[in-house]
Amino acid sequence: SKDDVVLRISNLESFYGPIMAIRGASLIIRRGQIVTVLGANGAGKTTLLKTISGVMDPEKGEILYHDKDIAGSEPDRIVRQGIVHVPEGREVFPLLTVEENLRMGAFTRSDGGIGDDIEMVFGYFPILRERRRQSAGTLSGGQQQMLAIGRGLMARPEVMLLDEPSLGLSPLLVKEIFAIIRRLNVERGVTMLLVEQNAKVALDVAHYGYVMELGRLVMDGPAADLAQSKDVQEFYLGVR
Ligand code: ATP
Repeated sequence: SKDDVVLRISNLESFYGPIMAIRGASLIIRRGQIVTVLGANGAGKTTLLKTISGVMDPEKGEILYHDKDIAGSEPDRIVRQGIVHVPEGREVFPLLTVEENLRMGAFTRSDGGIGDDIEMVFGYFPILRERRRQSAGTLSGGQQQMLAIGRGLMARPEVMLLDEPSLGLSPLLVKEIFAIIRRLNVERGVTMLLVEQNAKVALDVAHYGYVMELGRLVMDGPAADLAQSKDVQEFYLGVR
């Protein structure tokens, strides 16, 4: 039903100066779903997430979050409302410890549950507990990705925007991280928008998917259907 729609994005356009990076994107994210946006390097996936999280202002279009238009709102307001952006490239604070990074993720909160939530994050990522007093810059790529997700969880989000969690990781680590993404969705009910170049793992975990090419969403459907599509197989799954 309509009430299941958490995010409804319509006719979004975003620019870098004269460069039109998002060219009229419309998409819907339902409560409890993992929705993936697939696309090659430079398709506009990161720009889409930055526009939703308020890091960039759209030139046009609507971003309805529970029927409230958040397009152009400040990033910290959007976090407070329940949408958190987990950036690509392991953008953790390298000189802060693991635990300090997690506390930074709770910057919008003043309740007494922060210590419990740090324990919750350590429950999902036990290696972070072992490294809690180590500076984040000394972690491996996979551990930094775990920390980025953990830091996002500390805001108690309803929606997580995940930018290429598989980037630069070994197949084994990708499997491990995606298993945790699935658990966070099932066990904590976190709705997710996942952008990925790795179509195989993304379609495996997602309920629904979109394909982005040159700033446009050119195709969408249930993830299982997309995985069976000839075009997706040829261009994104490397099947001949
Ligand atoms: P990636 O896999 O690199 O994250 P992407 O699909 O997320 O790719 P975006 O980073 O959103 O793509 O880039 C979309 C378009 O905008 C590309 O043509 C890119 O060159 C351009 N672009 C991205 N960042 C900037 C910037 N800061 N200034 C100018 N152009 C940019």
